[in-house]
Amino acid sequence: MAWRFALVIDPVASDIRRDDFSDTLAVIDPDGPALRVGDLSAQRGDGVFESLGVVDGHPQEVGPHLARLAHSAGLCDLPEPNLDQWRAAIDRAAAEAPAGESVIKLILSRGVEHGPAPTAWLTLADAPDNARSRTEGVRIAALDRGYALDVPARAPWLLLGAKTLSYAVNMAAIREAKRRGADDAVFVTSDGFVLEAPTASIVLRFGGRFVTPTPNAGILHGTTQLSLFAHLEQRGFETAYETVPVSDLGRADAAWLLSSVRLAAPISAVDGEAKAVDHAFTDELNAYLLSPRD
Ligand code: PLP
Repeated sequence: MAWRFALVIDPVASDIRRDDFSDTLAVIDPDGPALRVGDLSAQRGDGVFESLGVVDGHPQEVGPHLARLAHSAGLCDLPEPNLDQWRAAIDRAAAEAPAGESVIKLILSRGVEHGPAPTAWLTLADAPDNARSRTEGVRIAALDRGYALDVPARAPWLLLGAKTLSYAVNMAAIREAKRRGADDAVFVTSDGFVLEAPTASIVLRFGGRFVTPTPNAGILHGTTQLSLFAHLEQRGFETAYETVPVSDLGRADAAWLLSSVRLAAPISAVDGEAKAVDHAFTDELNAYLLSPRD
């Protein structure tokens, strides 16, 4: 991954109103050292993050990403982020973005152990090449997440609805999916309901109706899915948040993984069973997702 730009942010209180945050944003060498060894993001994965797509210099869906950053911070009892300050940091980074697709990552850590304040930084990097997954699709393996659908409500300390930096389990699931001959995983509950992919939301199509699992604290509410549903509704399609049984993965006439950087990747197989890919419709979805979105 080519890192283009990085900023360390000195977080200010959420209620501070200013026109200019530039004195709180320090540009650093994106390839140089930046973190203290005691930073709890590195020691324990104790922090939250966001990844935003940037297309031709336009950061996509900044408002929904910042809302989710604040939501994740709240679930983790981190200080409420000052969203104006983060917006200023995003604008500063987006101004450095080259033509084409890039990715901005926002990271808010609990800070240095015993330290007084959270640490925060932002990076801008070239987006990985997603052309193949957008056109040919992705083969998925359904993997047991190891808990039932009602667990997030019973055990909120599991932080299942927060985008925390603890993604080791998500990465392990992708490796397991690859061992099974697939490209990516989709998590399912132990009682047989579809959740999300390790780094993406899932949307299923049944005729003119589009369905995604309800983001009821057990999964992230995807900004890409949210934006796509608004677009589909505008085009006259029906959309719904539902409890989705695993059998629907096979029953749906088409399905996609959705995320901010990959955009819409059609699912071409589920546990080795081929699934039809609607190439023309997928191209339309990706054309929309690549257009400037706020
Ligand atoms: N679910 C998980 C676990 C994710 O990590 C992501 C994105 O990284 C998503 C869903 C999709 O979210 P978004 O569309 O906001 O990128």
